[in-house]
Amino acid sequence: MPGRVPLLAGNWKMHQAPAPAAQLAAALRERLRDVRGRDVVVAPPFPALPAVAEQLRGSSIAVAAQNLFWEDWGAYTGEVSAPMLTDCGCTYVIVGHSERRQYFGETDDTVARKSRAALRHGLTPIVCVGETLGQREARLTLSVIDAQIRGALGGFGAADIARMVVAYEPVWAIGTGKVATPEQAQEVHGAIRRLIGDLAGADVARNLRILYGGSVKPDNIDALMQQPDLDGALVGGASLNADDFARIVRFQA
Ligand code: PEP
Repeated sequence: MPGRVPLLAGNWKMHQAPAPAAQLAAALRERLRDVRGRDVVVAPPFPALPAVAEQLRGSSIAVAAQNLFWEDWGAYTGEVSAPMLTDCGCTYVIVGHSERRQYFGETDDTVARKSRAALRHGLTPIVCVGETLGQREARLTLSVIDAQIRGALGGFGAADIARMVVAYEPVWAIGTGKVATPEQAQEVHGAIRRLIGDLAGADVARNLRILYGGSVKPDNIDALMQQPDLDGALVGGASLNADDFARIVRFQA
């Protein structure tokens, strides 16, 4: 990852009410006090955002939301907008996580709309892509990723893409304990970087951070991070344990 600051992001999913979320944030803050040269982000559920942001104020750990809607205000029952998230202390937002695609009908088009709303309000979108097991077995991985990246990011100019983060999360590896091998991950990360080069030019591609997600744990992060196009991780289950996530942040490449 020449020149790119690694980014380690914890996706707490639908875990942690405000009080335990604040405790987890405090434990992380304590464990990561001396970490330098790595960006760290945690993504609690919506109701815990203010408590976590308060707990992390003045630390180097940033706060992300797990989703957003593309309109700013209005009659959209159940939705949460980018200005609400910035008001709660968020600086990042996860967009198009495979669980949102699978259970809530999100598509590359909604990922694009949400990413645009995020950028409009100064939030960094972490745009998720990834193939299913069936697609991998049918040797469709690279064409699926190509379609997802072009579908979600194809309408953005280079300056906007430069403000994003991409997360490659093979669906078969999320929450299953089956991690992609470093070589499998590198193959897709390299392809994503080449594709970003097509869409936004070589400079943007060189500087874009591409995270790997899918059963990242303390015992596999070091090997993954040795790959040249892996710039960090989006971590689900292991991010709920402060010791495990702190060890992941302290990976040794
Ligand atoms: C995720 O939620 O993005 C994820 C990768 O989960 P896990 O690390 O639990 O596989």
